Formats: sequence, structure tokens, C-alpha cells
Amino acid sequence: MLARRSLLFAAPALLAFPARSADPLPVLATFSILADFAREVGGDRIRVEALVGPGQDAHTFNPAPGEAQRVARARVIVVNGLGFDAWMDRLARAANFRGTRIVASEGIRTLKARHHHHHGHDHGHHHHHHGDADPHIWQDPKRAQVMVRRIAAGLSAADPAGRATYEANAARYNERLEALHAWVEAQFRSIPREARRVVTSHDAFAYYGERYGVTFLAPQGVTTRAEPSAREVAQLVQQIRRERIRAIFLEDMANPRLIEQVAREAGVRVGGTLYSDALSPPDGPAPTYEAMIRHNTRMLAEALAG
Ligand SMILES: [Zn+2]
Repeated sequence: MLARRSLLFAAPALLAFPARSADPLPVLATFSILADFAREVGGDRIRVEALVGPGQDAHTFNPAPGEAQRVARARVIVVNGLGFDAWMDRLARAANFRGTRIVASEGIRTLKARHHHHHGHDHGHHHHHHGDADPHIWQDPKRAQVMVRRIAAGLSAADPAGRATYEANAARYNERLEALHAWVEAQFRSIPREARRVVTSHDAFAYYGERYGVTFLAPQGVTTRAEPSAREVAQLVQQIRRERIRAIFLEDMANPRLIEQVAREAGVRVGGTLYSDALSPPDGPAPTYEAMIRHNTRMLAEALAG
């Protein structure tokens, strides 16, 4: 604390930042996975909250009027971007937010969202054009490393005195993500590529799939806001039978009915629950990003090897 204060006095330019004291920097992330990254990078220099908490769905999140006050209290907001959490931009405007806005997807190579009949991640009834980027970049641990570096750069811009801490924390955490990536690769090594076919609720795993050679099929597109038609569900059931797909999973924040129906009609047992867009509560199997990737990978590898 003392050291940080003396740094502030030594650098008069920093005094221009309002309300910078020894208190932790208030950071607000749009959803639980970004909050976990920010917590790893910021350590005890920051205090992180997530607007969309564990087990909640950012796609369908509808901010209450009071949420603007949480944004107004933050010095830094962290968003994913790519249309995933566009509601934060409206909240930030409503709150007259003038702090630092970190877009974690900046500089990341994206995949096109696969075509389904609806694409609205946004509020109201916007329909995105086909060819929009798939926002679920965090499911690839290699891309997550880029997100972590973006967050470190953004926190350093908001709190220059903490730069060395943020960079060191990000580097250490990214080493863990590198080890995590190597571990995931090892889990799939003995499973033939053609056998790596999985059905989930919505298209949240394309980046994971690209990285580890797993094909994911989903009755819902990249958003959970739209229900598939009966015809689309029937086509998926036929494909599961035809290709003898045995790995069918629920998702933590999605309604299980659709997947249960698909599994029943295809005559396949549901393999368990994957965590896609939200972490679990602290006592669940995926309270952190690393735990989430390990949990999902174990479930997938078990089902595919079975
Ligand atoms: Zn999603």
C-alpha cells in the first residue's frame, strides 16, 4: 500500500486519474469467465464483479435498470465483444461511463458463426447477417491467452502503477493455460479424429473443436435466444443415427429439454453437462476457467472413448 502511494506521488501525471487510492481498482466484467481472467491478472490490485454470474446466460441477459449503477461505480469494464455482450455498451452509455473499456476479443482470429435460422445475440429482435463472427472465443485456451494479454494491457492503461504486476500475473497465468492446452491435447490423442463428434445444445464449442479436432453439432445456433424448428431437430436426430454419434451433452445454462428430446429420439444417452458460456458456482465442477476446460475435456474424452 505504502509503495503504491509513493509511486503515485512520484508520478504527478497519475494524479489526474480521479479517485485513485490504495483501494482496489473496481472492475466489472460482463460474464463470469471474463471475471475469472481479470481476477487472475489483477490479483489484489483490483476488485472484480461479473454482471452475468455463474450459471447465468449472457445471450439472454436483460440488464435491470439498477445495473447501470454497478457500471457507474466501475473504473474498468471488460467485455468480450463480437456481439456477445452488446448490452454492456447500452449500460455504459446509460451510466455515462468514462473509465477504461477492455474488449477481450480484440486482435483474435475469429471463426464465422455457423448458419442457423436465427442469429440474434443482440437485444430487441436484431438479426445478425450470416458471416458474423462466432463470439465463443474463450473455449480455446490458446485464444484465451490472447484475451488475458488484452486484459493485462487494459488494466495497465487504467492503473499504470500496476503495469509490472499485471504483466507478471498475466505471464504466469498464461503459462498455466499453456499447460492446460497441452493436457487437453493429450486427452484426445488416443481418440481417432473421425470418432470425435459431439452434440451440444448451442454452437458454443467451435473454437475448442477447431483447436482439438472435435466436431460439434448443435440444434441451436451460436445464441440461445432462438428455438430450432421441428424440421431442424428431426434432421439432427437423423444425422446422429446415421453417423452413430454417441456423445450428447447438456449445457449448464441452457434449457435441458431440447437436448433430452434429441437424445430420446436418437436413442442415445445424455453424457452429462458441459460448461459453455458461464462458470459453475464455487462448489460446482467448473468454478474457474481452468476447472471448466478440464471438466469439459474429461466429459468429452470419456464419452468419445466409450
Ligand atoms: Zn453461447
